[in-house]
Amino acid sequence: MMAEMFHDEDADLSVIQSKKVAVIGYGSQGHAHALNLRDSGVEVVVGLREGSSSTVKAEEAGLTVLPIAEAVAQADVVVVLAPDQVQAQLYTEEIAPHLRPGSALLFSHGFNIHFGYINAPDGVDVVMVAPKGPGHTVRREFEAGRGVPVLVCVEQDSSGQAWPLVLSYAKAIGGTRAGAIKTTFREETETDLFGEQSVLCGGVSQLIQYGFETLVEAGYQPEMAYFEVCHELKLIVDLINEGGISKQRWSCSDTAEYGDYVSGPRVITPDVKDHMKDVLADIQNGSFAKRFMDDQTSGAEEFLRLRKAGESHPIETTGREVRSLFAWRQDLDSDYHEGSVAR
Ligand code: NAD
Ligand code: MG
Repeated sequence: MMAEMFHDEDADLSVIQSKKVAVIGYGSQGHAHALNLRDSGVEVVVGLREGSSSTVKAEEAGLTVLPIAEAVAQADVVVVLAPDQVQAQLYTEEIAPHLRPGSALLFSHGFNIHFGYINAPDGVDVVMVAPKGPGHTVRREFEAGRGVPVLVCVEQDSSGQAWPLVLSYAKAIGGTRAGAIKTTFREETETDLFGEQSVLCGGVSQLIQYGFETLVEAGYQPEMAYFEVCHELKLIVDLINEGGISKQRWSCSDTAEYGDYVSGPRVITPDVKDHMKDVLADIQNGSFAKRFMDDQTSGAEEFLRLRKAGESHPIETTGREVRSLFAWRQDLDSDYHEGSVAR
């Protein structure tokens, strides 16, 4: 079964152009959505907490910033782009009391709705437009005339007009230039968490660290280890992104391809798949969500400890030194500060 996909011609920009949109939060996704909407001719304001450090940035970009309650009170579409772990409290305290009947709540990840941390009232639409890329890429691609693919779904269609709204919004942020895939809050939430935990973030990070440790413990230079198990990863991933695993194997030497076949399965053994199934089960039964939220609401002690431990792995020091010496280094994101635990 092929997923249902939508493109620019399936979406009517005038739907979202006739609405007032409030983007709550001005971080990675928030700044990209707000600026892309504005550039698509949509009336948009940014809702931020009093004294938020993002206020100046949003105002400098020419956007109107309002206190969250005020932004919500005047909006037809409320876009919730605060971090997932604060959305429930934010919703209860500052969104729900001011939400207009007949308005729409739009998310970019299904976490809070799917796991029940936010219960939207009857009479509002609950929808999602989730870019499949970081917010900074969503903005850069839009400015370049392209777009990042998005997932689209409708959890609650009180107005009967939720689908035209979702597609129109996806078009306004550039998503339908690339393509919008129809899914559900459940599927988006569970597959997103699984992907980032087992492969994209968790799996890859652990694989790189083990590879680095193995070479360094065997007496090789850390800089060499960094190049072989970390730097070149991007080149491999770019090829996979262009033409699948087959293109990566086609482009590498026969030696590399043969080593891939005989050693890949020795490193990533079938019990890794069993562990992946355990991770998926914990996502599906809500225990990952609970562990994350319980830690967050009690001061994020575990989260901050793990972040600090990750940043003190020796590969981070070697990587910083190596990257500073080479011309490929690019600082595209002025708000990212390498090596700062406190970011
Ligand atoms: P972020 O951490 O970059 O930014 C969140 C912004 O929310 C902050 O910049 C601030 O303006 C505001 N904020 C922070 N704390 C707040 C609080 N306590 N109350 C009110 N506002 C607060 O967040 P993000 O990564 O853009 O994530 C936003 C949503 O987008 C999440 O649901 C996330 O899952 C989803 N998403 C993110 C990405 C990504 O690439 N970052 C990709 C797809 C979906
Ligand atoms: Mg994801």
